Amino acid sequence: MADDTLFLKIVRGEIDADVVYRDDLVTAFRDIHPQAPVHVLIVPNHVIATAADVSEADEATLGRLFTAARTVAAQEGLLDDGYRLIVNCKAHGGQEVDHLHVHLLGGEPLGPMRSRTRAESA
Ligand code: 5GP
Repeated sequence: MADDTLFLKIVRGEIDADVVYRDDLVTAFRDIHPQAPVHVLIVPNHVIATAADVSEADEATLGRLFTAARTVAAQEGLLDDGYRLIVNCKAHGGQEVDHLHVHLLGGEPLGPMRSRTRAESA
């Protein structure tokens, strides 16, 4: 059930994680399988399953995901060189955990957004 998401347990402190930022609306912690020198997940403190499930009632939280990402990027020294924010949505987006989250990746040049182009995949 929605109240049992892995990330909600991290928000509640029921599962250990390396939390780097927390406020009344969102929590940020390091990804357990980092894909870059800095890889942080920023999640709402309440469950929104996917980006396809957002509503107007979530707008404050959704905005906070971006301002928290900026705060974490500053903490991690990424503001000058930049970083990448990714939200995977459902099966085709590659979403594994059904609790909306923003990936913050940085610390090195990240290359093209996709590893394969449509033409290469054809
Ligand atoms: P998604 O594919 O859903 O966009 O991303 C889920 C992310 O959660 C993955 O990058 C994965 O490494 C991360 N993850 C999965 N389980 C855990 C966990 O128990 N702790 C942390 N910190 N990250 C996790």
